[in-house]
Amino acid sequence: MLEARQHETVLEVDLDAMVHNFNIFRAQLKPSTGIVAMVKASGYGAGSYELAKTLQNQGAAYLAVAVADEAMDLRNSGITMPIMVLNPKVTNYHTLFSHMLEPEVYSFDLLHEIIEEGRRYGVKDFPIHIKLDTGMHRLGFIESDIDQLISELKSQDIVTPRSVFSHLAAADCPDMDDYTMEQFTMFERCSSRMKDAFPGMLRHILNSTGITRFPQYQYDMVRLGICLYGIPTLSDGSQNDLQPVSSLYTVVISIKNWSAGTTVGYGRKGVLTRDSRIATIPIGYADGLRRALGCGHSSVWVNGSLCPIIGNICMDICMVDVTDARCEVGDRVEIFGHNINVADIADKLGTIPYEVLSSVSSRVKRIYF
Ligand code: PLP
Repeated sequence: MLEARQHETVLEVDLDAMVHNFNIFRAQLKPSTGIVAMVKASGYGAGSYELAKTLQNQGAAYLAVAVADEAMDLRNSGITMPIMVLNPKVTNYHTLFSHMLEPEVYSFDLLHEIIEEGRRYGVKDFPIHIKLDTGMHRLGFIESDIDQLISELKSQDIVTPRSVFSHLAAADCPDMDDYTMEQFTMFERCSSRMKDAFPGMLRHILNSTGITRFPQYQYDMVRLGICLYGIPTLSDGSQNDLQPVSSLYTVVISIKNWSAGTTVGYGRKGVLTRDSRIATIPIGYADGLRRALGCGHSSVWVNGSLCPIIGNICMDICMVDVTDARCEVGDRVEIFGHNINVADIADKLGTIPYEVLSSVSSRVKRIYF
């Protein structure tokens, strides 16, 4: 019984949909272009191991995670393909070396630390990924660093630059394409100098939106994130074939009839304006259903009807108005997925789909099929 209760609220992860999305991008790219699959933040909330296993089988060139712990979990579960670690700082670098986890290197300090630790650990030619700052102004070497960077890399054999890359700040903002083009120009200039010095180096700059909008800059690899999870980033129809990978479901655990004027939930914020059927569902803000979606700001999907969330969302539970829906105890409720877009929820929250997906909390069971 306890087991069943724990699974009332689940994130269903459709691996076939992910493969479908992967193949859509695969087909748009040159056959020689590698795909770096972004599985950071536990696969944008979907859980990284199952995704990684599938992506490994699909022939992704690399996985990318944010921190070494995520990469370690993948290695310990048997993932053998190359893994890039984007934020390797504060990592025990021996962990990287012993598990063949390839760090992003974005500063001289970090480069020196890794070389120093690599020397102590006895590594040779350990692959690293050089991050260039071409306009994101977050992390990365700048153009005036390149000569020193090349000379420092040349003067040792502890690490070897496997790739040089950068990140676009506004790939999805057509009104800022001038800026994006400046990023491409700077990337071409800087990365060419690196490539002249290290001919085997791979180059990459495109994220999901970049791949769709600027395929001419795919270089040797692209970094596919949000679109792998089936979330379109453009509204021009060019990504309409994507299929949602993650769907959040729960079930109705109670239904009651209340007369007009009754109030529902904390602070009595849900005031019924008519005689109503109110269903209770076991999902709350501790599961990732943000409290700001309560009090009628959002709806859930029950048997083909949109049912507004009534009153405040509680930590583990919330109430929905099912007066106009076909609804019985035990019926399935979609929070997001095929009928309710993650993007619509994000809009209501004034955020982006990335945050909605990665906020589904760890107590929500992930089910893969
Ligand atoms: N590359 C880097 C460095 C990133 O930080 C991210 C995502 O945050 C991506 C690629 C993937 O971006 P997207 O999910 O928009 O495809």
